[in-house]
Amino acid sequence: RAKAEGRGCYRLFTAEMDETVKVRGTIEEELRAALMSGEGLEVAYQPQVAGAGKPIVGLEALVRWRHPTRGVILPDQFIPVAEQTGLISQLGEWVLREACATSRHWPNLFVSVNLSPVQFRIDGFAERVMEVARETGADPGKIELEITEGVLLDDGGQTAQTLRKLRAAGFRIALDDFGTGYSSLGYLHRYEVDKIKIDRSFVSSLGREESAAAIINAIVALGQAMNLTVTAEGVETKEQEHFLRSAGCDELQGYRYFKALSKEQVARFLDHAPQPERRGALTVASST
Ligand code: C2E
Ligand code: MG
Ligand code: MG
Ligand code: MG
Repeated sequence: RAKAEGRGCYRLFTAEMDETVKVRGTIEEELRAALMSGEGLEVAYQPQVAGAGKPIVGLEALVRWRHPTRGVILPDQFIPVAEQTGLISQLGEWVLREACATSRHWPNLFVSVNLSPVQFRIDGFAERVMEVARETGADPGKIELEITEGVLLDDGGQTAQTLRKLRAAGFRIALDDFGTGYSSLGYLHRYEVDKIKIDRSFVSSLGREESAAAIINAIVALGQAMNLTVTAEGVETKEQEHFLRSAGCDELQGYRYFKALSKEQVARFLDHAPQPERRGALTVASST
């Protein structure tokens, strides 16, 4: 795989690298097999709330790989391999399909799906997304597509067009990990999005680094001025929650509220949710 790292890249193979290459090859083969058989891959859903004690407003789909011998593998360990091998197209569509199908159980919640830049650049991507929504009977208005800077980089106009098509079809677009990229403000200027998700690193720096509060306040002000929904990621403590709520964040997501859950766990929770969640369409079909 050294070849894939590009021309002019001279390297001596060490035993350790050889090992890495082998592991990567194994992951590739096993991931391919998992995608073929449909076994081992799962989607976990992390609820997003409108505030402490407030109802769940949405769920973020996060892929998991339950490996027969290695236990649960997190996306950071296999998404890059999937991107390098082209498997991301299949994997991404599988997650999207699963998330779209799941969204039908919860008509009052949105379900957000992370998109890889590699997946996004595939020809006809917007059409594929629309087709998956149609096939699963999902309402595009309930599906949020999370993109990162990587999606918006090296753009030849194609990205803007894909985003425009998706938004025209009713999908909502969220800028994930906002504030960590090189050109976050430029993206807001150039692309139409619906939501920004303040990166977890700013939230976790609150109380430790003075700049974190200033940056979060600025992002919220910007979001409000542009009529965007502002979500904070990685909320873990009461102090963070207080700050983010008074700063004016619309939605909060983090271990303080929920970790990523199986959809059965989400269903069970919503079934037993206290009054505000329980009323109306938030009640979930117990068959999920
Ligand atoms: P992300 O989209 O920014 O997702 C949030 C990540 O933060 C998730 O990690 C989530 O479990 C974790 N998290 C949530 N709340 C907290 C908290 O309070 N504290 C801390 N420390 N972490 C928290 P996860 O599931 O391991 O996913 C990591 C990244 O992998 C995601 O970051 C996303 O970029 C990517 N990813 C996940 N699923 C998919 C997928 O289906 N497709 C693609 N292309 N990427 C995915
Ligand atoms: Mg995300
Ligand atoms: Mg994020
Ligand atoms: Mg991320």
